Amino acid sequence: MVLIVGAGITGLTIAYLLAKAGIKVLVLEKEKQIGGLAKSFRYGNFTFDIGPHRFYTHNQRVLAFIQEILGEEGKILERQTAVYFRSRYYSWPLHPQALFKLPLPLTLRAARDIFTQGFRSKSRERSFKDYIIRQYGPTLYEVFFRDYTQKFLGISSEETHSTWAQMGIIKAVIDEKAAPRSLIGLIRMALFPPAASLKFIYPKGMMGSFCEILAEKIEKLGGKILVSYPLEKMKISEGEIKTISVQEESWPVERVIWTAPLTSLCSLLRVSSRGLEYRAILLYLLEINHPPLLPYQWCYYGDPKIIFSRVSQPNLFNKLAAPPGRSGLCLEILCQKGDDYWENYQGLKNRVLSDLIRVGLIEGKEEIINLHYQRIPEAYPIYHIDYPQRLARIKKDLSRIRNLVIAGRSGSFWYNNMDECIEMASEIASQIIRSKP
Ligand SMILES: Cc1cc2nc3c(=O)[nH]c(=O)nc-3n(C[C@H](O)[C@H](O)[C@H](O)COP(=O)(O)OP(=O)(O)OC[C@H]3O[C@@H](n4cnc5c(N)ncnc54)[C@H](O)[C@@H]3O)c2cc1C
Repeated sequence: MVLIVGAGITGLTIAYLLAKAGIKVLVLEKEKQIGGLAKSFRYGNFTFDIGPHRFYTHNQRVLAFIQEILGEEGKILERQTAVYFRSRYYSWPLHPQALFKLPLPLTLRAARDIFTQGFRSKSRERSFKDYIIRQYGPTLYEVFFRDYTQKFLGISSEETHSTWAQMGIIKAVIDEKAAPRSLIGLIRMALFPPAASLKFIYPKGMMGSFCEILAEKIEKLGGKILVSYPLEKMKISEGEIKTISVQEESWPVERVIWTAPLTSLCSLLRVSSRGLEYRAILLYLLEINHPPLLPYQWCYYGDPKIIFSRVSQPNLFNKLAAPPGRSGLCLEILCQKGDDYWENYQGLKNRVLSDLIRVGLIEGKEEIINLHYQRIPEAYPIYHIDYPQRLARIKKDLSRIRNLVIAGRSGSFWYNNMDECIEMASEIASQIIRSKP
């Protein structure tokens, strides 16, 4: 039997592919709800994803898999997003007009950077700061990337590894499909906006329905998924995991695929994970008594004075996310498990509401019908400057257990998106199927 720890997209994709090939699978999920980071929260007639969640990929196999799971339940949406910068909204990716709306001194300084860029040696680009200055110049670094990163990760740009630029910022904010990996690229993109890259796939039943459909298929194929089952113990002998246990129950296993946070695996196996941390998110989920005031599916807020870093509007992904004439707002507040925001999340309410009024997402506090909170402890791997060495050491320690595979975003401490989780899951499942006697 193959044991899969974690019922997020990675774990469920592996379980589905193995079950389809006739292999016995058991999925253990710690929470009472499946889906991991790609779940949706439902409150009466309101539904919220964890921030904006959409499928986009150029990988035809991944695309075929998404279509196989969703069938008629998928739809194509046009991306409409923005960046809030110095009290104005700029559509993102940039439109040509945006260049003319930027403050003139800033535009001139950024333009000067084009001529002074390109003289720094690549070998010095270990930190996020060095990488961004080289790619986009010091002006954009100072006015946007520096503060956004500090706010997002909670550490300075000098302490952040350049992986964050390539994996985090470019993927999340800049959008890898538009791929303007330089200042000139950004300007080119603004003048000649890419048309085809701005579409994405979204499930008709909201993002959480993808994992729910997958789970149904797994169970139909004879696979088992147990929720509220956090893996607590593994019995290892002769370099292999032999049995695993949760509370009073134990199962003999041939293989274990771990997709839950790597740090939890380390503490289970008493391997030090010092220096590896995840950034948490505090979600404020608001039910609003009117339709969305702004036309953006999501918007980034880099200004350190604004408490949230991104807001998404579920109605603009799916009209059924709220009852007619109403809407939802999903606010992401980055924090650290155990810090002030994490512990006193309800106490932030007044600050959150006044920031929402300030940025024009509501006009008054009386528009809020209801407010829900969710805390996501391991949302983003934090790429400290020395993380590659620490991660390599942990992987080396874990590689001594021959029948253990680590996978997925949280499991491999890699900033994977869902398409990459599916790709990774398909590779792992193919290897297991190939090695079947
Ligand atoms: C705010 C935000 C927005 C995002 N937007 C996008 C997007 O637009 N497009 C995109 O492609 N990707 C997006 N992503 C990334 C995407 O959500 C992830 O890549 C994907 O969901 C990760 O899936 P996973 O299965 O690897 O990990 P996870 O979803 O983290 O699943 C791990 C599972 O393990 C469970 N678990 C933990 N500990 C234990 C234990 N001890 N025993 C058993 N189970 C345990 C957890 O509860 C969880 O269900 C976004 C992520 C975030 C945080």
